Amino acid sequence: MFLLKPDQSYERVEDISAAALRAMGVSALLLDIDNTLVSRASGTMPSSVNAWVAHLKASGLALCLISNNWHRSVFDYAAELKLPLVHKAMKPLPFAYLRALGKIAAQRKQAAVIGDQLFTDVLGAHLLGIRALLVQPRSEADLWYTKIFRRLEKRLGR
Ligand SMILES: [Mg+2]
Repeated sequence: MFLLKPDQSYERVEDISAAALRAMGVSALLLDIDNTLVSRASGTMPSSVNAWVAHLKASGLALCLISNNWHRSVFDYAAELKLPLVHKAMKPLPFAYLRALGKIAAQRKQAAVIGDQLFTDVLGAHLLGIRALLVQPRSEADLWYTKIFRRLEKRLGR
């Protein structure tokens, strides 16, 4: 697998059903937060995302949040969704992915990472041989270094 090429691409996380994940052999998800679940511009969890997480949980999928963010907000999101969290993840480095898998007792081959960035979420997943599902960012608001990566993503024809 090309390290920066997502295995699947979607508009939003809500477009990814538990049945589609099962069909891919996925029973565990590592979820990015910023601009994947929550718009960086609004900072509020959409009710559709809350409902999507509830749908996946009810379908028996194991979920863990994994975020490079270290601010209080990520703990609030984890509490709101009642999900385990690995923060300060330093994606694309592998350590946090492995910790997140350990938290939900999942193997790499049964897992998928869902995120909005090629150079953190997708690259980090693929360095460990984990499937990577890419979604469109929920807002244009990004950190300064993310904006640099966005320019590189555009060059790759994202
Ligand atoms: Mg993100």
